[in-house]
Amino acid sequence: MVRFTVLASGSKGNSTIVSGGQTRILVDAGLSCRELFRRMKLAGEDPSTLDAIVVTHEHQDHVNGLAVTARKLGIPVYFTEATHRAWTRWLTPRRQMTYAQWLELCRKQAAERQAEPESASSEIAVEECDPAGNPIENTEAACMVEPAETSSPAGDAPGCAKAGPPSLKEDPTWLPAVEYFQAGEPFAIGDITLSPFTVPHDAADPVGFVFRAEGVRMGYATDLGYIPPNVKEQLRALDLLLLESNHDLEMLRDGPYPWAVKQRVLSRVGHLSNDAAAEFLSNGYDGQAAYVILAHLSENNNLPELARVAAERALVGRASLLANRLLLAEQHHPLSGISF
Ligand SMILES: [Zn+2]
Ligand SMILES: [Zn+2]
Repeated sequence: MVRFTVLASGSKGNSTIVSGGQTRILVDAGLSCRELFRRMKLAGEDPSTLDAIVVTHEHQDHVNGLAVTARKLGIPVYFTEATHRAWTRWLTPRRQMTYAQWLELCRKQAAERQAEPESASSEIAVEECDPAGNPIENTEAACMVEPAETSSPAGDAPGCAKAGPPSLKEDPTWLPAVEYFQAGEPFAIGDITLSPFTVPHDAADPVGFVFRAEGVRMGYATDLGYIPPNVKEQLRALDLLLLESNHDLEMLRDGPYPWAVKQRVLSRVGHLSNDAAAEFLSNGYDGQAAYVILAHLSENNNLPELARVAAERALVGRASLLANRLLLAEQHHPLSGISF
């Protein structure tokens, strides 16, 4: 079965699960591990069955819980090389790292992984699940996939060689495994094929995706300043389209953001407005998707009704029981999974 579950969407955190065949992928990890696991529980998704995490870009609302979640589950993270490097820099801001030093760090981490191939997930203490100190709504639902089988002895004798991967404090950039992909080059994770495409956004190497599994095609495009031809090309013949509808232009203009931030959001490498999303839906989109999900809505500069009305107007005559059912992704609650 193919399923698409949005766990969170918006400037405070983004995360979605795409399942197909035997494979389940987490797309971005923008909430704390603990909160991600809580949302998965609410949405009927089991964290322990995830196979990989793919990252669209290094902005905090897409990677906030990345290291902890990947470590906890012991699963690989897929990045572009430039995004991996930008993420590494974000986590180690005081360290001026040359490209050569960065390569050296990657080599060292790969060697550490080789030395300890199996132990990643069982070594992480639950308390490490929320290093960013994010607000946690339900502390009961901790990041428990499975109890650690062997709790490491408290306080190794000094001088003892320490087994296992470095702790988050020792190396916050350590991941159980890292895989690289490139925009424009499709690749597979298990039963799911991913086609990453470049989006115009102010990050190192931001991408959107088309996921394909069991003949179902799902498009994922948020965090883009406008929709260039290469993106239009990708967002065709989809069964599901998740598209950014970030802000209402008037609300942004009159809203609380400082001028520089408004300029950034409005720029060609910022975010899609309701009008820009609607313009695509009426003129650039082929109308074939069964579901259209509006995503990454701003809490300060948008209202769900405004985004919905703009998209509904654009889809006039195309919405039916079978096509273009319109949904709005939410910041604070998961959407129920969409199955095909
Ligand atoms: Zn974002
Ligand atoms: Zn972004």
